[in-house]
Amino acid sequence: MVDYKTLGLVNTREMFAKAVSGGYAIPAFNFNNMEQMQAIVQAAVETKSPVIMQVSRGARDYANATLLRYMAEGAVAYAKELGCENPQIVLHLDHGDSFETCKSCIDSGFSSVMIDGSALPYDENVAVTRRVVEYAHRFDVTVEGELGVLAGVEDEVSAAESHYTKPEEVVDFVTKTGCDSLAISIGTSHGAYKFTPEQCTVDPATGRLLPPPLAFDVLEAVEKQLPGFPIVLHGSSSVPQDEVDTINAYGGALKAAVGIPEEQLRKAARSAVCKINIDSDSRLAMTAAVRKHLAEHPDHFDPRQYLKPARENMRRMYVHKIVNVLGSNNKL
Ligand SMILES: [Zn+2]
Repeated sequence: MVDYKTLGLVNTREMFAKAVSGGYAIPAFNFNNMEQMQAIVQAAVETKSPVIMQVSRGARDYANATLLRYMAEGAVAYAKELGCENPQIVLHLDHGDSFETCKSCIDSGFSSVMIDGSALPYDENVAVTRRVVEYAHRFDVTVEGELGVLAGVEDEVSAAESHYTKPEEVVDFVTKTGCDSLAISIGTSHGAYKFTPEQCTVDPATGRLLPPPLAFDVLEAVEKQLPGFPIVLHGSSSVPQDEVDTINAYGGALKAAVGIPEEQLRKAARSAVCKINIDSDSRLAMTAAVRKHLAEHPDHFDPRQYLKPARENMRRMYVHKIVNVLGSNNKL
């Protein structure tokens, strides 16, 4: 049993309370490797932002769960070395699929876990979430539950259609489970292809696809049921068109990738939404920089030569999100 507090990590309780009352959102960036971790920590330190570093089951398979936990421990030390006296870093399990997965993360030093029972019948979702909460709270680990289904594909999570969260269920769910935050479905979606071209309209000014707007009426109804309760948005990458264009210009073939406009995420961040998950944008930033570098330097073969600009491009993207979208800068 590894206590996350001995690693210098924190849970989400206090940072979410501050974010809800302060009208901003905490960034939740997924990481799978050292360069992503370094870029996340550099951006958080530079902007004086709390940050959630999250690990999906795909990341645990790719990188090894033990290594990722040591990397999070290293992230705290790295933040201090970069001049941050009191870093607020959460190590969070993204889309835990069972009590056993959540328990294994809690036991190995995670400070926060998500149990995603959203695909289960309601009563089973309540039961598994409650079981995880009972175990997690013994160690002061916070728990994110989910109601409603997001469309899209990302790692192991996949659904063809989204089902908005039913606002009439949220009080019962939160009361019965005791979860600390709730992921809801209001039209965000996993992955870099959040919407089909048929679901979008064309912006006459740019010719780009504009996705359908988020269901802010559902968000407002949830907030009315649960005043001040921390709400989470998954699938909230914006799929920056300049990164997609760079990828396509240097040999890639990303067709009609569409994300959530940042203007809508800014609006969400000012509400009870206090955690916004961003994964695809980091993948795009990394891939765009690697493709460009290798195309321009066909003689390079040292991974540091192309991973350095990739890391720098991710850092710039993370800083942009923190300062211009989530508003979590200068909150340490
Ligand atoms: Zn998700």
